[in-house]
Amino acid sequence: MADLDKTLGEFFGFALHMSGHNAGPSATSPRWSPAPLLYASAAIHLGAAATVLARPRMWPWALAAVAINHGGLAAAGLWPRSRLLGPNWVTLPRHGGESTSVAITIDDGPDPEVTPQVLSQLAAHRALATFFCVGARVERYPDLAREIVERGHHIENHSQQHRHNFSLLGPKGMSAEISRAQDSISRVTGSTPLFFRAPAGLRNPFLDPILARLQLRLASWTRRGFDTVHRNADAVYRRLVNPLHDGDILLLHDGNAARAHSGRPVIVEVLPRLLDILAERNLQPVTLRSALP
Ligand SMILES: [Zn+2]
Repeated sequence: MADLDKTLGEFFGFALHMSGHNAGPSATSPRWSPAPLLYASAAIHLGAAATVLARPRMWPWALAAVAINHGGLAAAGLWPRSRLLGPNWVTLPRHGGESTSVAITIDDGPDPEVTPQVLSQLAAHRALATFFCVGARVERYPDLAREIVERGHHIENHSQQHRHNFSLLGPKGMSAEISRAQDSISRVTGSTPLFFRAPAGLRNPFLDPILARLQLRLASWTRRGFDTVHRNADAVYRRLVNPLHDGDILLLHDGNAARAHSGRPVIVEVLPRLLDILAERNLQPVTLRSALP
């Protein structure tokens, strides 16, 4: 197992090296350790190769095993809340004792029309949130990005361009998208992201070692409102709060926000109701960073 770990680590390390990726001083980087699904995949590939060498007529079976394995890896990447490809925050970690917090995460901004309204609503409820911003938008609206941070919220990494083919990128493209956003956000706000969320939550096995090198943790969500596609604010609200538990991570959007039937962005209609029910249930809205051990 240790040898396989080393081999997988060397393979991905090589791929990252070839991509020209450099995350700075590696001495402080957490060591990437492959998820069990990657061990299984490596074993299937080695087994298939050995089978073909020993019994060449078995090649269709070996090929089928490898194809099924690749299907499994792709499926794991298409399932945002999956932990099969590596660690992934789908709820807040518990540190013992009673947890009474919920994290509101707000994606795809900053947006010059929606984000200021969201910031006012959060301030009115004395609530903090985590903004997964797109690097290019942070560069386009630097004052807004700085205002988010000045108000006590955190900005995390949601890639530089929010490319819809993000999960199809190889190590070079993925690394560039993430490290460029890391640079943009740090330069504009003075605060370096500690979390990454993949565009649409879709990813592939190359992502995990890149995040380890950049000292980023992958975060998805407990529930999402689908507020970029659904105009019905009531339905988005119900999807987020039924049920509602301590430690939930909820997802809304200030960028690409759908318009409710009233014409207002859906998040602006949903957020005050969400903040009200959190207060009613004595659940404190916190940022992801504040839940770090
Ligand atoms: Zn997004």
